[in-house]
Formats: sequence, structure tokens, C-alpha cells
Amino acid sequence: MGITLNVEKKGQWDQLVYVGPINEDSEVHLKPMITALGTNVIINFRKVESVNSCGVRAWINFMREAEKGRKVIFEECTPEIVSQINMIPNFRGSAQVRSVYASYACGKCDHQTWVLFEEGRNLPSSGTAEIPPQKCEKCGTIMEMEELEDEFFAWLDAA
Ligand SMILES: [Zn+2]
Repeated sequence: MGITLNVEKKGQWDQLVYVGPINEDSEVHLKPMITALGTNVIINFRKVESVNSCGVRAWINFMREAEKGRKVIFEECTPEIVSQINMIPNFRGSAQVRSVYASYACGKCDHQTWVLFEEGRNLPSSGTAEIPPQKCEKCGTIMEMEELEDEFFAWLDAA
């Protein structure tokens, strides 16, 4: 699968939607974005398929340039993006993380789903805050988050 970057105007904001893997081919796609983006940037990660170490390097280089004179917000970070944010502080730089997906699994019926945690709605205030229980939409059982909650939300305390 290839990489497609779409920029959509959202009022004062340029929303960059990244579709495809973050890998060794990312740099070629990301570079033109440095000049294409305005001063207020939302990066949406919902359609990022995978991340490898070459991609992380390209991403960090991109962020270093993209952040100059800009406000950057991350939205709909997938569980894989969240783990990068937690492991590698430069992945995020000074960007604000506004929403993340956590993956949940039901112990009773094996249903798996992503739950979106959004600032101002259900995003906890810190990595150690209590997370409201999530019910399985198929059978009503309380589901388990697949990551450890305090590790998954550790980035909240690193800001
Ligand atoms: Zn279930």
C-alpha cells in the first residue's frame, strides 16, 4: 500500500490526513508538506496502517521542521501511534495530543474495538486517573484495554 497525504482546510486549520504506513517512503511525501501547511496544523492519524523505525526517523525530521512557527495538534492517534508517542518524545515534539484510540477486547465474546478518548469528553486528566469502564457493544460485558492503562496514558504526564 502506498502513502497518500491529504490536506483539508478546516477554518483556520489545515488538517493533514496521513493514509498508509509511516516507513522509509514517508520522507518523500512529508517534505513538500513543510511548505504546503499553514500556521495551524491538525495531523490526523486514523488511517496510519503501520509504523517502522525508518518511518519514525522520517517523522521526527518532519516534526522538527513542521513545528517551526506553527501550532500542531495530533488527532485520532491509533494505538500504535500512541506507543510511539510514549516511547519517543520527539515523535510528538511539542504537538498537543487531542484524541487517541485505545484498543479493547471483550473477554466473553472476543469482540475487539477501538475506543476514542477525546480531550474535553472522556480523555483522562493524567496517566493515573481512573478510566471509565467500557462495555462490549455485542454482549454488554466490561471490556479490558489491551494496553496497561497507566502506560497507555503515560504521555499525559510527560507534557
Ligand atoms: Zn462481548
